[in-house]
Amino acid sequence: MVDGSVEDSQKALFGMLPEELKELVAELGEKGYRATQITEALYRQRVTDIGAMTALSAALREELALRGIAVGMPEIVQTAKSVDGTERYLMRMGDGETVETVWMPDGDGGERGDGSEASAEEEQAEGLEGNVSEFAPRRDLRNVGALEQSGYSRATICISSQVGCAVNCQFCLTAKLGIKRNLTGGEIAGQVAAVLNRHGVKIGKDRINLVFMGMGEPFLNYDEFIRSVEILVKHIGIPESRMTVSTSGIEPAIRKFAQEPLRPKLALSLNASNDVVREQVMPITRKWKIGQLLDAVRTLPLGKREWVTFEYVLLGGVNDQPEHAREVLDLLRGMKAKVNLIVWNPGPGIDYTQPKPEDVAVFQKMLIEGGMPAYIRRPRGRDIYAACGQLKRTVSEEQGQLVTIG
Ligand code: SAH
Ligand code: SF4
Repeated sequence: MVDGSVEDSQKALFGMLPEELKELVAELGEKGYRATQITEALYRQRVTDIGAMTALSAALREELALRGIAVGMPEIVQTAKSVDGTERYLMRMGDGETVETVWMPDGDGGERGDGSEASAEEEQAEGLEGNVSEFAPRRDLRNVGALEQSGYSRATICISSQVGCAVNCQFCLTAKLGIKRNLTGGEIAGQVAAVLNRHGVKIGKDRINLVFMGMGEPFLNYDEFIRSVEILVKHIGIPESRMTVSTSGIEPAIRKFAQEPLRPKLALSLNASNDVVREQVMPITRKWKIGQLLDAVRTLPLGKREWVTFEYVLLGGVNDQPEHAREVLDLLRGMKAKVNLIVWNPGPGIDYTQPKPEDVAVFQKMLIEGGMPAYIRRPRGRDIYAACGQLKRTVSEEQGQLVTIG
């Protein structure tokens, strides 16, 4: 079954591909079309229980249960809601491990220019088609998805790829956890399914963007990350053009990624303008220098509407000065790229300071004037610790009860 899974989740159906389900039903002496029915139930209907797979015969459902096979979609066990609409979920896996997933609804185009995928698409669409929204007729509410009915036009889901992270970036809270284990492809895609269910999202009607920017380094869990993409695109039905994966920069994995037939857009966490500063803030730079990473990124065959995003966390006095902006421009000259500037989100026990607002403004202005599109990413859900780099499992189990501790 699923490679790299722990014992409990080996019995999970969620995460299996149609060909694997075919093998499973054959083993049970059932006809091939049963695999198609299970695929539909798992990924289109997003059922959480084998009992709800009503297309299957009662005997088959019973047989699956007897063998200890379950759906195994991650379960939301705790939620926190921000004043800005962002929600942070604690997701429990089959073996009791937990990760965090974030839901960020977006409203009225207020994120234009914030550097998010949504805004980039909006701007591109407007560039091509003019401002259509102003003249769009009001749509019949019966015909729109759950999101629009609740006043939002789209939402972004931020998913985790590992329990903890091994990369040890000095400014990131997730790093403090260390690495506990990889998530399986089913557990990665399953976070999305659980959140879609919670909000009653209708794929095809609601606009959903995905970012692989939660806990963990997706490129250090490469095969399972790719499996999750296949499930999300081919079976759950979210186009890869609406997905972005962020990496701290694992050079061989970037090269491999560039060859994938089905892949999200790429974001590279640059976070410094030279190797000396980058090594301080991201010790992984000892292994792969900025130049090597950029060479690998250049092998990516970019689509017409595709840019590489460089994320740049601004740390007060460390990497946010005019000389750094000039170095970034030199590094990225000639690349079809944009820069997302992220004001560092503080966390307990992390010894950095936030950049001064005037330094952030100057940094952005210098990039733009130097010909590099640059956006300041609006922090989302900071009040509930859901913003970038703030994901750690802010709960502990006390006498079997989940309590918030941070
Ligand atoms: N591991 C991957 C994806 C998860 S981190 C990566 O590092 O790219 C997602 C983004 O959050 C990265 O760009 C990272 O640099 C940024 N980040 C981490 N900690 C942060 C913090 N405290 N404040 C702001 N951004 C942070
Ligand atoms: Fe891991 Fe990304 Fe945090 Fe670095 S920034 S420790 S790679 S999650």
